[in-house]
Amino acid sequence: MKDPLCGSVSRMSSTTTKYNDPPGLIAQILTVSRIDHEYDQTYSYWLKPTDEVNFVAGQYFHLVAPEESISKATARHMSVASSPLDDELLFSMSVASQSQFKKRFSEVSVGDEVRIFHVDGEFTLDEIPEGAELVFVAGGIGITPFRSLIRDIELRKLNYSWSLIHVGRNYLYKKDFETYQSPQIHITRKDVPEVVERTVREHPEAYYFVSGSERFIEGMADRFVEQGIDRAKIRQENFNH
Ligand SMILES: Cc1cc2nc3c(=O)[nH]c(=O)nc-3n(C[C@H](O)[C@H](O)[C@H](O)COP(=O)(O)OP(=O)(O)OC[C@H]3O[C@@H](n4cnc5c(N)ncnc54)[C@H](O)[C@@H]3O)c2cc1C
Repeated sequence: MKDPLCGSVSRMSSTTTKYNDPPGLIAQILTVSRIDHEYDQTYSYWLKPTDEVNFVAGQYFHLVAPEESISKATARHMSVASSPLDDELLFSMSVASQSQFKKRFSEVSVGDEVRIFHVDGEFTLDEIPEGAELVFVAGGIGITPFRSLIRDIELRKLNYSWSLIHVGRNYLYKKDFETYQSPQIHITRKDVPEVVERTVREHPEAYYFVSGSERFIEGMADRFVEQGIDRAKIRQENFNH
């Protein structure tokens, strides 16, 4: 019943028997339907579920490497980048580390089976009042949950205005996001001080969502607080937890 990544008790939804998983941990099966090479060693994986998958935009799953049993080496936390309204789930990652998990993903083919279990996370629009302004701030691969949130806001026509700041060297989903009218800027680290100062001046009442490495989110949150944003209005997704 224990989740090998965080030790918490997993919620389960469907069964499979061909794997040697920890007792009581049951995952949902998905089939790889498309693989997109984004840049360098970063790939997007489109996964078709067999059963209904329940999650809220902005949450993450425990993703199990292709054809592997569940263990610390074969499962990773991974933000889902699609909306719950989409037919398929989207995950994106760099496979550069070549850890066992990433090696398996770098060898995966269309038609292979992967699994997910235990959806979790509070990087969602829960308790954000309707009509609020949202500023999304991504560091590198930390953009993944924002694709889910943005797509969900747009598909459901939710009453929020949003803008996006993506800090990095390569900008995943940039083409996807071009279909939206909302303000989006793609910057490198050196632009951060000026952009933070300007953003806070233009959006003093906004809710700030920051996602990426621990170093990135802590640094950005401190900057927003220094500029006068209430820490309670900053929601963070830490990819290193
Ligand atoms: C809520 C949440 C959402 C996330 N969403 C995403 C997402 O959408 N996309 C994404 O790509 N990641 C996401 N992550 C991060 C993901 O879970 C992994 O931690 C990350 O991708 C690194 O996994 P890895 O297997 O490459 O490295 P790990 O094996 O987990 O190791 C971490 C780092 O240590 C290094 N390392 C490992 N073993 C050794 C060794 N023996 N010697 C030296 N160095 C070593 C690796 O190079 C790697 O950089 C998320 C994390 C969280 C918590």
